[in-house]
Amino acid sequence: MCRNQWVFVWAPEEEDPWPPGAASRWWLHQSVSALDDDLLRSGSRLVIRRGPALQALRALARETGAQAVFWNRRYEPSVRRRDEKIQASLESLGLDVQTFGASLLFEPGEILNQSGKPYQVFSQFWRTCLLKPEPAQPLAVQSRIGALRNRPQSVALTDLNLLPAAHWTGGLEKMWTPGAAGARKRLSSFVKGILAAYAVTRERPDQTGTSRLSPHLHFGEISPREVWHAVRKASFEGMGQTQFHSDKKHRAAANQGADLIRGEETFLRELGWREFAYHLLFHFSHTQEEPLRPNFRKFPWRRNAAALLAWQRGCTGYPIVDAGMRELWSTGWMHNRVRMIVASFLVKDLLISWQEGARWFWDTLVDADLANNTLGWQWSAGCGADAAPYFRIFNPVSQGERFDPEGVYVRRWIPELATTPREFIHRPWQAPASLSVEKRSRLGENYPRPLVDHAAAREKALEAYRKSSGN
Ligand code: FAD
Repeated sequence: MCRNQWVFVWAPEEEDPWPPGAASRWWLHQSVSALDDDLLRSGSRLVIRRGPALQALRALARETGAQAVFWNRRYEPSVRRRDEKIQASLESLGLDVQTFGASLLFEPGEILNQSGKPYQVFSQFWRTCLLKPEPAQPLAVQSRIGALRNRPQSVALTDLNLLPAAHWTGGLEKMWTPGAAGARKRLSSFVKGILAAYAVTRERPDQTGTSRLSPHLHFGEISPREVWHAVRKASFEGMGQTQFHSDKKHRAAANQGADLIRGEETFLRELGWREFAYHLLFHFSHTQEEPLRPNFRKFPWRRNAAALLAWQRGCTGYPIVDAGMRELWSTGWMHNRVRMIVASFLVKDLLISWQEGARWFWDTLVDADLANNTLGWQWSAGCGADAAPYFRIFNPVSQGERFDPEGVYVRRWIPELATTPREFIHRPWQAPASLSVEKRSRLGENYPRPLVDHAAAREKALEAYRKSSGN
């Protein structure tokens, strides 16, 4: 049996402008611990070393007499540069280095337009992806690993001090089970319980209508290929049900089958957005800090520490924005629709730069991911590829009324508004004085009045855009 040794090297300081934030470090601690447990069950153990990564790998190769080194490719610009150097150096020592594409469905350089240039429009990018051969089925996980006779020295995981000092992680622990087993469980319950309704429920923060696989995908605990094939299989089985529907019972099954197919299409398209984000970061690496559209370089963003803090703490006075920011702080995750609403509020209503928002998300999201975060923020600010046009400014009241119609989501995260009637839940400042004090939520005392007037803020944002773009 071929003997091998799994290694995790903690090397955050190496020329990385985006070292993992607090929520990511919490996840990483749990994930590495779960990986070690999995390896133990397969007859091996994980070795943990501190970086710099090249020195750590060279030392380990020397100690173990290794002949080959394997890893899965990553695509963040600084990580790519580092990994290329490591590969060249290890190969110069005579080691066989092999890298694999496990974290994407398609390699970034593979999807190009007819002139050999990268796409900047999602629909064209995705159409080309769908014309490629279907991503390969993932290989089965090895049940036994031929471990080395003598386990090399390992640093204790706790000595890496990944866990945040603050008593902040209770909500994270309640919501998440980092590790491959947790990822598979989420995938299975998504496919069985949510996929058929996904095309509708994915827009509803008041419901559990999405997969919540994002941190598992980011940390490589599950591959997008495994997710792809699980969803395709469920939909294929559903397709069988769409035929022969003469009686009532079979008609219900047929409807369920059609819903699964719709769910599959919509969900795979979301995985496609993830691919698009990586593709953009790969080809336009400056976008991790700079807008893709050069006309946004001189946009007159404002510095307003008090407003930024109110946004971060969920105290803007706009319930859907505040609920999202509190969900993020408490669970390390936020629903996609609400991410778009809070991002629009920061960059357009408050005119604070998207980079400030991206940094806060980076520190607090368990799924913080350079490609997806950059795409999401530049899309919201209107300065990225295929972004929402700048003049399309989300109204936080009508967005709340549309996507959280009963106010369930807002009440979940803002207890101060628990008794506010449905018709005022997204605009409590308009509740009439005739309502009891509790129902009006003691505005200005236990829940803030709106930080800005949305209609006036919208006009200011459009004016700033007109001036900076010379329109
Ligand atoms: P599902 O709806 O179940 O989708 C399945 C998978 O598809 C997700 O896990 C994710 O990997 C991918 N996906 C879904 N929507 C998008 C999208 N719009 N862009 C790219 N990939 C997508 N996602 C991150 O993973 N990390 C981030 O740091 C991140 N930052 C964001 C910042 C902003 C301002 C915005 C608007 C979006 C951001 N997103 C980010 C994208 C999206 O919000 C999350 O991927 C999604 O909410 C994760 O929940 P889910 O796994 O239940 O998604």
